[in-house]
Amino acid sequence: MKYAELQNYVGGGFVSAQLPLLDVYNPASGDVISRVPLSAAREVDVAVRAAKAAFPAWSATPIKERVQVFYRYKALLEAHIDELAALVTEENGKITSEARAEILKSAELTEFACSLPQIAPGEMLEVSRGVECRIERFPVGIVASITPFNFPNMVPNWSIPNAIALGNCMILKPSELVPISAGRIAELLKEAGLPDGVLQVVHGGKDAVEAVCDHPDIAAVSFVGSTKVAKIVYKRATSNLKRCLALGGAKNHLIVMPDADREMAATNIVASMSGCAGQRCMAASVMVGVQKVDHIIERMKEVARAMVPGKDIGPVISAAAKERISRYIDEAEAQGAKVIVDGRKAVVPGREGGYYLGPTIIDHVTPDMRIAQEEVFGPVLVIVRANDVDEALRVENASPYGNAASVFTESGGVARYVMEHASAGMVGVNVGVPVPREPFSFGGWNESRFGVGDITGRGSIEFWTQAKKMTTKWNREAGVNWMS
Ligand code: NAD
Repeated sequence: MKYAELQNYVGGGFVSAQLPLLDVYNPASGDVISRVPLSAAREVDVAVRAAKAAFPAWSATPIKERVQVFYRYKALLEAHIDELAALVTEENGKITSEARAEILKSAELTEFACSLPQIAPGEMLEVSRGVECRIERFPVGIVASITPFNFPNMVPNWSIPNAIALGNCMILKPSELVPISAGRIAELLKEAGLPDGVLQVVHGGKDAVEAVCDHPDIAAVSFVGSTKVAKIVYKRATSNLKRCLALGGAKNHLIVMPDADREMAATNIVASMSGCAGQRCMAASVMVGVQKVDHIIERMKEVARAMVPGKDIGPVISAAAKERISRYIDEAEAQGAKVIVDGRKAVVPGREGGYYLGPTIIDHVTPDMRIAQEEVFGPVLVIVRANDVDEALRVENASPYGNAASVFTESGGVARYVMEHASAGMVGVNVGVPVPREPFSFGGWNESRFGVGDITGRGSIEFWTQAKKMTTKWNREAGVNWMS
């Protein structure tokens, strides 16, 4: 085993406990690289106690001082980018350039947190003579962040810098499939000067998540993962009277008009469906081709076929994921769809134990097929056809998800029409992965997000704080009026 058995991180240090262990795999080789403890209610409670002990001092520290930790943390992320990216590659499988991009995005998220003193000050107004109303933002208290396997470094950093800079103390429950990066994040934050107890890492799966949702001293829960689990977590956390923001899965539609720039559309669409082996909640999943788009599809075939598994595209997360994705492709083929780029036989010499799939494009799919409706979460793009943009939008609107949608066109009018009518929280024009960058917030619609607000950027400030409304009158001459 390359890495020692993992431990929870509580009160500023790693703590050992006699817990059941789960193997952690390198998806590129199938080798076991570590073991992760499966925590339950007791370990969550120990972590919450440590967070509660740290909360009074941390929440009373002025925000300008709190963010100094994150200036140093950002510099550490940048200084350690090679090591952190290698860790992401090892536990998640993504190729080096993608893993480095993930760390750079973590640095950008941290940069946003450093700007919070500039953008999160309260408001003040003299509401009647001598009387002032003001709003100050206070932390919520002990908060939790539950994260998925596809971005072991970035998704924890969606919540950690903002929530902690805004004065909360946090319990992070990383995915048990990619648990190693989380401990390194905790170590770097300590090196950056984060006081002990402000961040805890509690490893585990379902039991740990349920304990988080049930713990009476956790005030807010953020979740990122599949829609199935997002619903479970949202219902359980809110039934325990916590605030909850739960981001779920996706089925992103790209509408391609016949006037789209051929090269730009083809390269962006293939990059979107195959990047991170299709395991991004913003990945292109359904292309809706309007009228004659075969010239674009021909170019997409060339671009996808030129990709070399192991070099340009990493493995999917597990043997089970590879099997599930392959089943979707087999079923679509059996139903009459045409696999025009087939990644099912991908093998990387020397890494035969890895869970590789090449980019796969399936044409002549109909909207009623399972592969056109369900989240596949692999490097698979299906193509359905539409006669006009309204028909394309009907296909997009019928999806229960609503994370991302994009349109490829040279027409400003069509672009505006799609942006207005797509039922998704993040829409793009000539962009395959329309992720908003800071200070804009990340969050979908429909079954891709439960709760109010977004998880990053300005939209997250409301979630991680509570507003106190203060009314003061120090001016004795102010008099008495109908509001007094
Ligand atoms: P997942 O839902 O299986 O797991 C997410 C977290 O929930 C993990 O920490 C896991 O331990 C925990 N969990 C799993 N089953 C549970 C259960 N039954 N009860 C309680 N907790 C449970 O998701 P995943 O497979 O790790 O990640 C992939 C999914 O995440 C995809 O659906 C993807 O679209 C989604 N995702 C969404 C976004 C977004 O912003 N909307 C971002 C990244 C990933």
